[in-house]
Amino acid sequence: SFRRTYNFAAGPATLPQEVLERARAGLADWQDLGYSLLEAPFTGDEFKALMETTQQQIRTALALPDHYHVLFLQGGASAQFSLIPLNLLPPTATAGYVETGHWSTRAFEEGQRYGPAQVIASSRDSGFDRIPPVSQWALSEHLHYCHITPNETANGVQFQSDPDCGSVPLIADMTSEFLSRPIDIKRYGMIYAGAQKNLGPTGLVIVIVREDLLGGARPETPTVFNYQLQIAQQSRINTPLMFAVYLTHLMLVWLEEQGGLKTVQAHNISQSQSVYRLIDEDDFFHCPVIPEHRSVMNVCFSIRATQLTQRFLAEASARGLVNLAGHSQAGGLRASLYNAQPDDAVSALTSFMNDFRRRYG
Ligand code: PMP
Repeated sequence: SFRRTYNFAAGPATLPQEVLERARAGLADWQDLGYSLLEAPFTGDEFKALMETTQQQIRTALALPDHYHVLFLQGGASAQFSLIPLNLLPPTATAGYVETGHWSTRAFEEGQRYGPAQVIASSRDSGFDRIPPVSQWALSEHLHYCHITPNETANGVQFQSDPDCGSVPLIADMTSEFLSRPIDIKRYGMIYAGAQKNLGPTGLVIVIVREDLLGGARPETPTVFNYQLQIAQQSRINTPLMFAVYLTHLMLVWLEEQGGLKTVQAHNISQSQSVYRLIDEDDFFHCPVIPEHRSVMNVCFSIRATQLTQRFLAEASARGLVNLAGHSQAGGLRASLYNAQPDDAVSALTSFMNDFRRRYG
């Protein structure tokens, strides 16, 4: 074991120590092969079996019906901002975007390069402090799909349920909430998630797409990013992110050991509530997001006396509470509380915040 700080980073984020220790085992002799996972052929039976197991773990955790495919791709979540239109959107069709913060805006801006994208609802005018209700979205039959970001990592605002878009296929960037709660998969045509939050590894993006949306990839779609071609080759057209898949597998084992999605969801809610409660106690701290739409994963807040922010970060860091600065675009402070955040980190944070407020309030 080694020295561990309390790490509140937004992703890459803290991982369970036991998972890090298990990951080490794969760096020695992996599965008695006489070499490590990093040295294993991706076409070998052992790695193929690991990929199949990992896919099954995701299917089980999310209760995915057979007509949803699971893909392990590269390029992170951001690459999907382009790959979704290339794979799913005919050049003249319109994609709808719900704009709720930094990441949905990035998805929209990138999507615009591939066709007539349209913002069908936005909370920009109120500073991304809420999720616009579905009843106010400009949903219409002419939309080929509708894109949302259910948890806005930089703004700390989160959908509280899986929205019903009727016949318009719903596509969700679940990067910062993936596997933090059970979802109603029927509501979605596609979900995708960069793995560096609840699962750990960077670069890997997990794409889950419904069969009927496929078949219309544009001819210029790169082969390694063509959903249908990758599905046919079990995500092994080219060398997959092998260590990332391995870490994902270990995190899914750990998730199961914790009791699964319902259990971690309750745990996540209770951790975030303890921080929000403290923030709301008086006027010293401030959370800009309306209480009903606050993120369970990323608690974004500020100190009203903004000149104290740097002091807060320095004192926190001296106590071993690190990576509490807000996203560069949003500013302020942020405590990310993904599945792996231990309770003692959260209680260390709230007692520090209490103490800081007592001394400077
Ligand atoms: N979407 C969301 C919601 C995110 O939080 C992030 C990363 N913070 C991204 C997309 C981009 O992910 P990547 O760096 O893997 O491209």
